[in-house]
Amino acid sequence: MSDVVLETRDVKKFYKMGSVTVQALRGVDVSLKSGEFVSIIGPSGSGKSTLLNLLGCLDRPTEGSVLLDGTDVSKMGERQLTDMRCKKIGYVFQKFYLLPFLTALENVELQARLAGVKDSRRRAEEALRLVGLDGRMGHMPKEMSGGEQQRVAIARALVKAPKLLLADEPTGNLDTATGSEVMRTLKKLNEQGLTILMVTHNPELAAQTDRIIRVKDGLIDGSLN
Ligand code: ADP
Ligand code: MG
Repeated sequence: MSDVVLETRDVKKFYKMGSVTVQALRGVDVSLKSGEFVSIIGPSGSGKSTLLNLLGCLDRPTEGSVLLDGTDVSKMGERQLTDMRCKKIGYVFQKFYLLPFLTALENVELQARLAGVKDSRRRAEEALRLVGLDGRMGHMPKEMSGGEQQRVAIARALVKAPKLLLADEPTGNLDTATGSEVMRTLKKLNEQGLTILMVTHNPELAAQTDRIIRVKDGLIDGSLN
């Protein structure tokens, strides 16, 4: 058995907007092994988010395949794709997207319920403990720092026990100190076995991961380590 959890094979992505077509990815092969913490870096507009969205089953490639646990998800119907995504993948974005009228615990518990997690309250508490927010469960988002809010968003992604966590510029809205706090949380989760793929603009954060994938003009620009 290979320990590759996620891979792309010659993936191409075109976006059509009226008569204009943009080719965002031009034939990309990447793979992610179980337990790895990998970062994707590259200039703005190079295709990083497009790649992460395809890997996270948020979208499908125009050509090529995306294999999750050996299953080609690029050929799946909408329902199957959503199901796969919900079960196996946790996603974190640059913006936290917390519901402002719910506490940290309620935000995470709501996600647990939506994902059909049993014992949702207890699991939400566990997820918040994992990201070091034991003391903030009853706080509203506006009562928390940006770093804390992002950690709530990470707990929300983890509450369904996904196989992997994908993060698109998770520190992009944060200052250096709070960005480092979020990075420490991700590293701790990775040490506990979680597989993580993170897009970042920050070379210092990328250098702290196991491997760097460089994207340029829709292509992989060689990878380090
Ligand atoms: P990055 O995350 O590296 O900044 P993106 O993957 O967001 O890059 O974008 C890659 C290219 O695809 C850019 O030229 C961008 O304008 C285009 N693009 C991304 N998403 C869409 C979309 N939904 N519709 C049309 N064009 C898009
Ligand atoms: Mg992006």
